[in-house]
Amino acid sequence: MNPFTQSLAFALAAALANIIGGIIVVSNKWAHKSLRYFIALGSGFMLGTVFLEMVPESMTLTKSAPLLVLVGYMIVHIFEHTFASHLHFGEEIHHDELMNPAVGISALVGMLVHTFFDGVAIGAGFLVSQGVGLLIFLAVLLHKIPDGFTISSIAITSGRSSRSALAAATSLGASTLVGVFAVYLIGGGSVSYALPISTGSTLYVAATDLMPEVNREKGVKMAFVVFAGMGLFLLVRMMARE
Ligand SMILES: [Zn+2]
Ligand SMILES: [Zn+2]
Repeated sequence: MNPFTQSLAFALAAALANIIGGIIVVSNKWAHKSLRYFIALGSGFMLGTVFLEMVPESMTLTKSAPLLVLVGYMIVHIFEHTFASHLHFGEEIHHDELMNPAVGISALVGMLVHTFFDGVAIGAGFLVSQGVGLLIFLAVLLHKIPDGFTISSIAITSGRSSRSALAAATSLGASTLVGVFAVYLIGGGSVSYALPISTGSTLYVAATDLMPEVNREKGVKMAFVVFAGMGLFLLVRMMARE
């Protein structure tokens, strides 16, 4: 399989996890509790992938890597938290504030940008190597259920139907696939930009979107799950290199 087919197949699996996140919201109460484990495990795995795989690989690709990482971080910040009037991960509980449907739209736009870069990261990863692609895919996959859950939860709270809540989660999956296409349409040369920019966006999602949700939990249990996520990353990387 060439890198494009591989990226597309894995991005499709990640996109399905977005939809599963939406289904959890719509089907109500099912698996709600396990979501926070995905958030904690995902942020640990993503931080490991960002600092130990994506940053070093980006540095070998281009001298502008540090700047591009910052650009990727700021792009997601602008769309998720500057233009979007209300967005945080997990279950939406601020019902009063969210009755305005415009809040739901701006949150969706923000998350479409973020999930586009989820796809860019997977596409760029497989251009570097199969091992890097696989690690980035797992980092993306682990937070895809929370992605889908979050947007569907916002949709329901801003007065939308179950059907449009599911449509919102599905559009996040579609945006991930568009991210893969974007990398390969521009061509193999795009990797030296695509990888560092998506490194910054992945860092944003892990450290700025997911970590605060982990810290909101009382006790040390969730903090340990973050370390378990990093441990899992190290384990998979060891196996991928054999
Ligand atoms: Zn809220
Ligand atoms: Zn994501």
